[in-house]
Amino acid sequence: MDDTGAHPLDTRPADTHPVPTSAASAPAPRGTFDAVIAGAGAAGLSLACHLANAGWGDRVLLVDDGSHPLEHRSWAWWSTGAELLAPFASSAVEHLWLAGEGWRRRVALEPYAYRRITGPQLSAATDRLIGGRQGYRRVVGSVRSASRDGTGCRVEIELTEPDGNRTVEVTARWVFDSVGLGAQAQSRSPEAYLDFYGLHVECETDAFDPGTATLMDFRTDQSAGAAFVYVLPTSARRALVERTVFAFSDTYDRDAEITRHEDRVREYVRAHVNTLDYRVTGREIGTIALPRGPAATPAGPVIPIGARAGMVKASTGYGFERIQRHSAAIAGCLDRGVSPGSAARDHRWSRALDHALLRVIRHDPTTAVEIFAALLTRNSGPRILAFLDEDASLIAQLRLFATLPLAPFARAHAHLLSGGRPRGAPAHRI
Ligand SMILES: Cc1cc2nc3c(=O)[nH]c(=O)nc-3n(C[C@H](O)[C@H](O)[C@H](O)COP(=O)(O)OP(=O)(O)OC[C@H]3O[C@@H](n4cnc5c(N)ncnc54)[C@H](O)[C@@H]3O)c2cc1C
Repeated sequence: MDDTGAHPLDTRPADTHPVPTSAASAPAPRGTFDAVIAGAGAAGLSLACHLANAGWGDRVLLVDDGSHPLEHRSWAWWSTGAELLAPFASSAVEHLWLAGEGWRRRVALEPYAYRRITGPQLSAATDRLIGGRQGYRRVVGSVRSASRDGTGCRVEIELTEPDGNRTVEVTARWVFDSVGLGAQAQSRSPEAYLDFYGLHVECETDAFDPGTATLMDFRTDQSAGAAFVYVLPTSARRALVERTVFAFSDTYDRDAEITRHEDRVREYVRAHVNTLDYRVTGREIGTIALPRGPAATPAGPVIPIGARAGMVKASTGYGFERIQRHSAAIAGCLDRGVSPGSAARDHRWSRALDHALLRVIRHDPTTAVEIFAALLTRNSGPRILAFLDEDASLIAQLRLFATLPLAPFARAHAHLLSGGRPRGAPAHRI
């Protein structure tokens, strides 16, 4: 798998910007920190930005081992633009296409815009925001462990240095963990994930509207599972055209499907971009795990953040906006002198809905596509996005539910309770 770290909804070759500040010439970190942030991906970097912006902490250490290089990553999200990182996004589109068999609609997103930030841009934004705080540092290394020590933690870090690795121990009042320190290996099966395959295409003539992305177009083969195509134009002639399948590891044969994926994407370009004159300039292939079990919870001074903290939405694979909210809430708690362990929103209701939808997608993908069609055709763009982002008021949610066929949710639930499962599939939780 060539996991570029990009989402179905947001992938383009990354810009070049030097990513993490190496520990090369700086002295090794030692002593006591207000916080150690383990992992400098979406959550670690976002949190550092929010803490620095809030003016919190005299000594904050951000550690990343480079196992997921930022150069090849990017994140898309939608927002009203009020969040700290919105100004650092490389693009913001204000219209989306939504489509399925026999229908297609273009929706305005206002007050939202659909934004995208590359790993190097996020890294540069972080350097800029933490640049104003002297005690903030980024180092390259692997956080090995965090063990309770009084009200804080002892943190063991294996630093990556030009002349070899060296292990140091520091203490910290808080450890923000996006890497799973001390976590038990999770059972791998059954796993729900998004399996995506994208082609960067360059057409001979104008074929795309750069101001409009295609969020979900279900006019693609559904035989391997509920599937949709995403199109992100970067100019009138260039776009990423990406196909995503909701996959379940005990029933989905990824090796077999990967060879078919490209044909399906090319079929889509032929039929819906309406061109044969294009060349492929790159590929985006990867998976996004859709969380199943409970999220990691705070344990004293160790606070999970990011995907581990349940910030990736199980029915969409999006997590960036939730990570922003969580980061802002953590900074707010620390600023007020409150434990950041209480910063995570309660996602139980949304998680229950996500899992119900995933069950329908798994057991009855045809009906699932009908549910998506109802959601996407009977609601305004902002209402859809607010719902998907868990930003909708109760009234707005009820209005939206009134547009959906709810019987399949009940059937999927009953199916689960009766122990039913697809032919040949072992028992499962989803
Ligand atoms: C391929 C992919 C694309 C996605 N695209 C989007 C998107 O476009 N929009 C969206 O909203 N959501 C997206 N998501 C979902 C979610 O937002 C991302 O998974 C997000 O990156 C999660 O942030 P994180 O900080 O928890 O993990 P990561 O961003 O993966 O960060 C973890 C970091 O920890 C480092 N690390 C690992 N082990 C150690 C260690 N022991 N010590 C130090 N560092 C370590 C890694 O190098 C990495 O940088 C995507 C998910 C995937 C898998």
